[in-house]
Amino acid sequence: MPRPHFLLVTYPAQAHINPALQLAKQLASTSSAHITFTTTATALRRINNNNNPHPFLTHATISDGYEENGDNPASDSPIQRLTRFSLAGSKSLLVLARSLSDQGHPVTCIIYTLLLPWAADVARQLGISSAVFWLQPAAVFSVYYHYFNGYKDVIDSGVHQPEFMVNLPGLPPLTSRDLPSFFLPNDPYSSVIPAFEEQFKTIIERQVGDMSKPKVLVNTFYALESDVVKSMDGVELIGVGPMVPLAYIKEHDSSSDKTFGVDLFDGDEKDYKKWLDAKPEKSVVYVSFGSIALLQKRQLEEMTKGLMESGRPFLWVLRKAQREAEKDFVIGTEVIEDERGMVVEWCSQVEVLSHPSIGCFVTHCGWNSTVESLFSGVPTVGMPQWSDQPTNAKMVEDVWGSGFRGRVNGEGLVEAEELIRCLKAVLGEEGEGVRRRAEEWRDKALEAVREGGSSHRSLGRFVEEVSSHES
Ligand code: UDP
Repeated sequence: MPRPHFLLVTYPAQAHINPALQLAKQLASTSSAHITFTTTATALRRINNNNNPHPFLTHATISDGYEENGDNPASDSPIQRLTRFSLAGSKSLLVLARSLSDQGHPVTCIIYTLLLPWAADVARQLGISSAVFWLQPAAVFSVYYHYFNGYKDVIDSGVHQPEFMVNLPGLPPLTSRDLPSFFLPNDPYSSVIPAFEEQFKTIIERQVGDMSKPKVLVNTFYALESDVVKSMDGVELIGVGPMVPLAYIKEHDSSSDKTFGVDLFDGDEKDYKKWLDAKPEKSVVYVSFGSIALLQKRQLEEMTKGLMESGRPFLWVLRKAQREAEKDFVIGTEVIEDERGMVVEWCSQVEVLSHPSIGCFVTHCGWNSTVESLFSGVPTVGMPQWSDQPTNAKMVEDVWGSGFRGRVNGEGLVEAEELIRCLKAVLGEEGEGVRRRAEEWRDKALEAVREGGSSHRSLGRFVEEVSSHES
């Protein structure tokens, strides 16, 4: 069988690059595949600064439509940026694939992440196969898939009703607040990214809706989402995750894995690791809302009050953008910082989650954060903000049982008392069940990625299928 060559194309966002880098690495080590890891020049510079080169990986860039002519993407809206990226990206991807072929390295298959459905068109133009690398749970793929295959009217006409509930195959009954936020008339981010929902729906429709012979690699593992995977009719969802650097997990110590991630944000000088080292086992509340979401000032105030009154030590990531958005408030958080609380700009989250002092993760339920918490055996308190996060929070609380979701008041805020209640439910005596389930998921996740585990085997099968189709 010829040695397959995967062109792995990723959107240049924090939550896309790291799992894609892990996938690249696993593809390279589970098979003799060669990987050309492809993203924009700016993101790639950051990756190269952060990583030791990997022997099975070649890096290449595609255009986002801005870099080469020095335009500032920040002066365009997110939709304009996506449109420009789609035009320039597909053109440069085609050129890249052709030049690789001319150099004697023809591409076998293009694997692309969320927001880049045009990469499949390029594969079609080249007459090669393509696969999606889905960066959200299989559950969310299923929601979108069913929306575009039979349930659109049911969801669109019912989602406004307070009592709305929809039963989709393989999923628990979902209310409006459990659906991905783009279905909601009042998506909390529609004011931040106007009309993004419609654009996103169009992209998602192209990625999940009209697939003939789809190949979908999912950053999940079979044991976690077997009900969803089994219930999908006509689409094979291939669990290949969780995509987390193994070295951070206690049982693994292959240090070469550790450098294999990238932080697109700068951290600060604070020695949070030393601070964590001094804390008792499973005592610290780690708080982070990922790389995009910004909390409202009122929510920040409730959060501070809740953390302070809970009496528990906390490590809180407040990104620069969040600090700038709420300048007055940030002064407040710096004042509250003491032996018990530390506020940082950015941290190495996977490393923090695997630290023995961490007892609970207050999270926006971004899928990477959720996967990382499962992989580290850390129970969560979910405060979903938008996108897939509400569905992820629902699955964590009601299906996987490894965390709770903070209930919101009429203004959509999780109040301080509610946060305290949730922290107690996770860290107190009554949290024994939730803590045990989080540890069980950690064991199952590790099992999945070990040699011979479900994700390891699935990835191997995928490579074989793609390669034999080629030969
Ligand atoms: N992250 C990190 N340090 C931080 C905050 C976040 O390394 O201080 C990483 C986190 O480990 C995860 C990613 O940023 O891999 C966030 O992805 P997620 O899907 O959870 O949320 P998003 O950023 O897409 O909202």
